[in-house]
Amino acid sequence: MLTLSRVSRRYGGTVALDGVDFVVPENTYMSLLGASGSGKTTLLRLISGFEEPDAGEIAIDGERIDGKAPHLRDIGFVFQNFALFPHLTVAQNVAFGLRYSAVSPVRDEAEIAGRTQDALQLVGLDGFGHRSVSAISGGQRQRVALARTLVTEPRIVLLDEPLGALDANLRARMCDELKAIRERLGVSFLHVTGSETEALTMGDKVAVLANGRIVQSDTPDVLFSSPRNAEAARHLNAWNIFDAGLCGAASEAVRLAVRFDQIDVAPQGQVPSDRPHLSAKYLTGEFNGPTALAFFRSKDGTLMQVVDHLSCPRLPALVEGQSYDLHFAFDAARQFQEAV
Ligand code: ADP
Ligand code: MG
Repeated sequence: MLTLSRVSRRYGGTVALDGVDFVVPENTYMSLLGASGSGKTTLLRLISGFEEPDAGEIAIDGERIDGKAPHLRDIGFVFQNFALFPHLTVAQNVAFGLRYSAVSPVRDEAEIAGRTQDALQLVGLDGFGHRSVSAISGGQRQRVALARTLVTEPRIVLLDEPLGALDANLRARMCDELKAIRERLGVSFLHVTGSETEALTMGDKVAVLANGRIVQSDTPDVLFSSPRNAEAARHLNAWNIFDAGLCGAASEAVRLAVRFDQIDVAPQGQVPSDRPHLSAKYLTGEFNGPTALAFFRSKDGTLMQVVDHLSCPRLPALVEGQSYDLHFAFDAARQFQEAV
């Protein structure tokens, strides 16, 4: 189990991480979702030892690892750009970590060949060992980077936006494979990404990093259906977040969050009296086949989206530029106190 306690890191005046409390359990695919610049890479660099925290503790199974040299931590790191050696073959890239390990270099050629072969097989690159890494596809390079990390049998594998450099089709396939590979190995993966879909599909658990902290860490379904605060909800596209004052309810310090499938749209003045509502102008629609999105702008400028499903359409005919009442059941709204 990897544990971060009150971990902070600043760069000059920029506070990248501000008291991170975070646990990655054993044998778990953990996704970490955060916007660009939220400190994802910094977090991985602190765990792997390429940088040290200004404050806080990092431990594996209760043993402090902060302060230790990176090569003494037994942590695998798959870099965002793969960072392969372009002049080496696939097999030479994978074997590199074994051959030149600072702690326990492997000198036995048969062992190197065997473990390299096993790692290549694990990532589906059997028979590619002799190829130059400049003569393989992006997806294959990704696998080489993974094999190079796995061959050293790390206690945990950190993956920095591992699918970012791949095209959409490949990304979906690689998602399945990463999960399958992890399950076979039984070690934890910590996969950081800016993509909500990726985080939710990949993770046994998903943590959200915002304002330098982990604002929620839960199973994907719990995170998606019950974001615990406005910061977490803001990372989930399905949630509309707005001032409670917009629908005449509560004080200004309260924010409401309502999922896009739980908002109904009515012509103005026709909302049943027991339902909270707010007025918003219809901007445009986006047709996605089985679903369609309708975009609105509230009086205070908040962008709102409502989803309609092909199988049970519930939106009236909408005219661009016209105002409507968006309404919802009181129970559907999550309330968040927000420091202003
Ligand atoms: P992410 O990986 O989520 O995009 P980073 O961890 O790279 O975010 O960066 C977090 C914040 O820390 C950003 O504001 C970034 O500009 C800053 N930062 C990261 N590394 C450095 C550095 N070496 N020097 C100065 N600022 C940095
Ligand atoms: Mg990054």
